Amino acid sequence: MIVNKAERHNVIYVFIVLSVIFLSPWLIGFRYQQYTGEKKDMMLIRLVVGPLQVNCFILADEKTKEAVIIDPGDDAQEILKIIKEKGLKVKYIINTHGHFDHIGANRALKDATGAELLIHEGDAPMMASAPMQSRAFGMNTPSSPLADRYVKHGDMIKAGEISLKVLHTPGHSPGGIGLLEQGMVFTGDALFAGSIGRTDLPGGDLTTLLRSIKTNLMTLPDDTKVFCGHGPASTIGEERKENPFLNRQSGFE
Ligand SMILES: [Zn+2]
Ligand SMILES: [Zn+2]
Repeated sequence: MIVNKAERHNVIYVFIVLSVIFLSPWLIGFRYQQYTGEKKDMMLIRLVVGPLQVNCFILADEKTKEAVIIDPGDDAQEILKIIKEKGLKVKYIINTHGHFDHIGANRALKDATGAELLIHEGDAPMMASAPMQSRAFGMNTPSSPLADRYVKHGDMIKAGEISLKVLHTPGHSPGGIGLLEQGMVFTGDALFAGSIGRTDLPGGDLTTLLRSIKTNLMTLPDDTKVFCGHGPASTIGEERKENPFLNRQSGFE
């Protein structure tokens, strides 16, 4: 077949267009990961934000489009782009704790969405001093607005079908919280896949953290999915079996 120059250009053009169309889901996949929730109409998106690679979660009710954002540590524009793409109405921004790597996009997101900002009272001072904390790590985290409401152990946070139960899990920080939905728990920096949160930062305490994990997380069913503040997801059963910090030698019984 003889192909002249113009036709060759057309072939190249079509090839580029098709590549972009077929590769875009793959490219988008790098921006965020979407999980299927336990509940049929619930959408869960994970984005890794900021230099300390915090997991920011967007949990949304697909029917009402109401959503909550957990730990918007950084990259507000990226989070807002997804919110817009999916047509979500953000009702709450929830910080699992007040460390600077988890709160950096609070202000930008609150300004853009008008959502209520929630945190445990025990970490409100930490949130207020986040810009200072971040400078100690050579970073420049913007200040967060004050919380609209403090949440405590046992509170329910509702947005459409979403119903998150607050679990107070101090130890990594005094006001650290976990958030429990049907079949899944967001553990912030209390529990990671194969590890636990550091306890050497101000307000941290190892005995308290182990007690929190034991009473409020390890009491959940084995098949509960664990979404951590950093790193990959796990399950309660997996951590019960494999996590080296949760055995007797570490003072865990
Ligand atoms: Zn932390
Ligand atoms: Zn963190």
